[in-house]
Amino acid sequence: MSICDDTLLCNFSKCRTKLSGFAWVTACSHVFCDQHGSGEFSRSPAICPACSSALSGKLDIVRTELSPSEEYKAMVLAGLRPDIVLDISARALAFWSYQVHQEHMYQEYSLSRAEAQLKQMEKVLTQQNQSRELELTGMRGEIASLKKVMEEYKRKYSEVSERLMERNRQYQKLQGLYDSLRLRNMVVGVGDTLPQPGHHDFNTGMARQATPQRSPQFLSMGYDGDSRFFSCLEADGAKTFFQFSSPTRERGQPFIKKH
Ligand SMILES: [Zn+2]
Ligand SMILES: [Zn+2]
Repeated sequence: MSICDDTLLCNFSKCRTKLSGFAWVTACSHVFCDQHGSGEFSRSPAICPACSSALSGKLDIVRTELSPSEEYKAMVLAGLRPDIVLDISARALAFWSYQVHQEHMYQEYSLSRAEAQLKQMEKVLTQQNQSRELELTGMRGEIASLKKVMEEYKRKYSEVSERLMERNRQYQKLQGLYDSLRLRNMVVGVGDTLPQPGHHDFNTGMARQATPQRSPQFLSMGYDGDSRFFSCLEADGAKTFFQFSSPTRERGQPFIKKH
């Protein structure tokens, strides 16, 4: 409320409405709206709701009309000496300026309280921001370390898959070797049991040149599946196979089987 504002506010703390029509003024320089004045001052003894002063005097509480009629204004101070007129006017003005001053103080108090609240909120907000920032930094660090772990896993995975491919290649190579040897062995087995022209060459050493040369090469491979391989060989005629790889025995006793 500024000085220019020509309206006072009800001093009842929860009301603070702009006064109009009738108002209740007190000797302790407080003013209330018609509703609160009539309610509060109907009790006895009357107590000011703003400052708790006891208002027991005859003129301690006055219900006054805020916009008096022309007739009232013309008659109320008529006949009084100028100094009394001025005294009355000065007291009325003092009442007004006190109200304005009180309102000013109240506004300043509200402002400073709002500023303090604002500062407190800013402080809380800053703290929250700082903790969020810390949290964010921590999370960024966590992400970076997780990325490192992921890179490490990727590297390991590529290593393992590389090794797997290498093993596969070895396996394919050995499988090919195994298949070719088995095929050869089957051919030799057939040659051993069925009489055919090539059978004669076996004793002369011609067949020996064609097949056994590769056998030691295979045997030196150290393939893990040796047992499997030889069990197959036995079934298909492993004994014949070893006869091929032993030239001295072949020469001497070509048809004696190895046990
Ligand atoms: Zn009121
Ligand atoms: Zn009062």
